Amino acid sequence: MKVVLEELTKKFPNRNKKEPDVIAVNNFNFEIPDGKLIGLLGPSGCGKSTALKLICGLEKATSGKIFFGESDVTNVPPEKRGVGLVFQNYALYPHLTVKENIMFPLENLKGDKKLTKSQMEEKALETAKLVQIDDLMERKPSELSGGQQQRVAIARALVKMPQVLLLDEPLSNLDARLRLQTREEIKRIQKETGITTIFVTHDQEEAMSITDLIVVMKKGFIQQIDKPQEVYDNPTNLFVAKFLGTPQINVFLGEIKDEIIYIGNEPIMDAKGVKDQEVYVAVRPEGFIPDEKGSLTVKLEAVEVMGRDTTIIATHEALDGSNLRAIVSADLDLDRNSDTVKFSLKPNKVFVFNKDTEMRIRLESDN
Ligand code: ATP
Repeated sequence: MKVVLEELTKKFPNRNKKEPDVIAVNNFNFEIPDGKLIGLLGPSGCGKSTALKLICGLEKATSGKIFFGESDVTNVPPEKRGVGLVFQNYALYPHLTVKENIMFPLENLKGDKKLTKSQMEEKALETAKLVQIDDLMERKPSELSGGQQQRVAIARALVKMPQVLLLDEPLSNLDARLRLQTREEIKRIQKETGITTIFVTHDQEEAMSITDLIVVMKKGFIQQIDKPQEVYDNPTNLFVAKFLGTPQINVFLGEIKDEIIYIGNEPIMDAKGVKDQEVYVAVRPEGFIPDEKGSLTVKLEAVEVMGRDTTIIATHEALDGSNLRAIVSADLDLDRNSDTVKFSLKPNKVFVFNKDTEMRIRLESDN
């Protein structure tokens, strides 16, 4: 089932009436293709949960429309939208067993959808098998690990075979190892069921690793919608470039003069056809090549050997923010006693943004 958002906006009135309304979701226009897993990604307060609540009907839109397939569901109540919901805190019923928790959504089915007890049990078992908790059916939630509880919550959301599955930070309460495991599970389950799924997270790595499409959001505005690799390789603005990638992208204050990009007084790249202006020059950590003839000189602070690769930590007067981190191959022979390192830069790992608008300036080398 595809999901279409059309000029969808949600405003919350400010408690202080003299202050303007909070626009949590600002004019969202996009289509979530049928059967895909899409991630809503952004920092706290950017409107991810509000967008999800609008899609499932727990919040009413201020304006705009929501379609599931061809049907307009904007004013359809949540229980009639055919959505499955999973929250961060599992929200299982503590006094019910795993089986009873999973069966719960089936109990209230009415009319020709009404199921007998044995049909409900069969469906619960089928779904439990899908999320691999069928051996835990008689346990209470308190007798399960966090990861198992989250699987029960996913099974409960799936048991009615929803048209759309909505996951709101479903991994945040799990420890690092379980988070990794559960996110792979979610991807597997989503693939197996083919249910259009919307996954809310503030964790870029999570979004990058399992989604088909990422919607990057900031303060209620969509910044970019693309495949994960495309968002990483081709950010539309400085915010997106900084939000994706660990270690974070390195940002320098620079300048374009006579079609050449400068960091400090070192010319680092051509910018053919681009007019003179102040810019941010952002370089991914893997974009630096140690090179005696390189054009960028930085002050060496430390070298961290990480096994497979090496991190060079350095400073530079034009850096906007913390130390520079360059990731290079562990095979390279680096002179650790030197005060400085010279780098040449991989053009496809360098992005240039206008200093005022922070929007990307496309260079010839970007094509
Ligand atoms: P988080 O990751 O912290 O959960 P989020 O991206 O999910 O954040 P939302 O919860 O959607 O963000 O909130 C978006 C904005 O709307 C925030 O500025 C928040 O303070 C505001 N907001 C959310 N719910 C309400 C409400 N009921 N009344 C007023 N403002 C609200």
